[in-house]
Amino acid sequence: MSQYGFYTTYTHEGGGFDLAGLWYAKRKSGRAIVTDLVACHECDMLFHRDDIPPGARADCTRCGGELYRNIPKSLDRSLALYISTLIFMIIANFYPFITMQTSGIEATSLVFSGGLQLYEFGMEELGMVVFLTSILFPFICVTGVIYLLVPARFGHLPPLFGPVYRAVRVFETWSLLSVFMLGTLIAIVKLQSLATVNPGLGMVGFVLMLISYSAARANFDPEVLWQYCRVKQLAHNEVNAKEKVVTCHTCGLLRPDRPDLHRCERCSDSMHHRRTRSVQKTWAYLMAAAIMLVPANIYPVMTFKQLGLGSPDTILSGVLKLMSEGLFGLAFIVLFASIVVPLLKLTALSYLLYSVSNKSDWRPRDRTLLYRMTQLVGAWSMVDVFLVGLLSGLVSFGLLATIEPGIGATFFCAAVILTIMAAHTFDPRLIWDNTTLDENGYPPPQQEEAVTLEIVGTHR
Ligand SMILES: [Zn+2]
Ligand SMILES: [Zn+2]
Repeated sequence: MSQYGFYTTYTHEGGGFDLAGLWYAKRKSGRAIVTDLVACHECDMLFHRDDIPPGARADCTRCGGELYRNIPKSLDRSLALYISTLIFMIIANFYPFITMQTSGIEATSLVFSGGLQLYEFGMEELGMVVFLTSILFPFICVTGVIYLLVPARFGHLPPLFGPVYRAVRVFETWSLLSVFMLGTLIAIVKLQSLATVNPGLGMVGFVLMLISYSAARANFDPEVLWQYCRVKQLAHNEVNAKEKVVTCHTCGLLRPDRPDLHRCERCSDSMHHRRTRSVQKTWAYLMAAAIMLVPANIYPVMTFKQLGLGSPDTILSGVLKLMSEGLFGLAFIVLFASIVVPLLKLTALSYLLYSVSNKSDWRPRDRTLLYRMTQLVGAWSMVDVFLVGLLSGLVSFGLLATIEPGIGATFFCAAVILTIMAAHTFDPRLIWDNTTLDENGYPPPQQEEAVTLEIVGTHR
């Protein structure tokens, strides 16, 4: 993504900054139409929604978070890409994923096999997680968006568009296709010494699905949906400079903060200034995750048996074994994803919670960046869970060689899910609530002079 220096400056005419920490893009009349405004999801700074050139992205000047994009022909492009994703998804799931050959025995497996095998080994919960995150949730996301976009293409929104949009947003967090792919690549490299591994048509479909799904998500602009939404014509869409506004965290709709408007009229999610009890809930998830990491590292995650011989491996002994086999690249990936990332995530989130509880105003922009990173890398820890699922699904050559999952993998999976939930419950806007205000409740001078929309990057 290249950067080009392009700025539109929107002069802020004596606007206020209320004690809840919200900017008012106050117009000359002292009133603003809420649909003309946009609030940053990460720091709650309020901007006027200006037109930006095609392919550009508007970023928040305070925390650097993305506000919105102008994606040319977003509706047509994303619809085409989502439909092709669905086609590739069908190919990926119904055709052979991997074929393995050893000593005259051939075994073929589908994407489904890993989860199913875990289920058959008596690890139902783990099998279920693998099935949900690699098959069902991505399927719900893709069909959900197609359900919204096809009628939108003809100028209206389908029934229940709000709940469907919300469901898509929730399940997107839990669709871990790229992590599954990384798990597959590691499994293939690991199995090279044991058997001849041939990728099948299903894997080709899976790779294509991954590419078109990423492109579809990058081209999807939810604003194209809201153009057909009646909320634009609704009452209560004006705020005056003295009024607080609340943002819907799911779809970004802004409303005046009035008791009768506490449910989003667009996506029907509940609206509030900050996520309720964010600090307490995040601490609870973090502690539970930390507790789960103990058995996850003590108990074996899998047992590899060749000709009936083999000993159980924990996460750490698995890494050491990979090293002794000379697979340093793989050892590094597993070490990083399974040990370093969960620990870093626990430390980073604990620090953020501590700083928020202590009302620290130290480097809020960097702390927001830290939060963004914990959100980004968190899901990659699931690679070990997929690896265990795939390996036990793939390697079942009877007496010759088997890989059995261990109870440690279930604890580890629980720890990863809890850290993802912790990152999700933490409200990054809390970081900005304690940045210095003067005695009138106004922000520091450099922010009061002008509200600048910074446009960075091209996107085509
Ligand atoms: Zn921001
Ligand atoms: Zn909403």
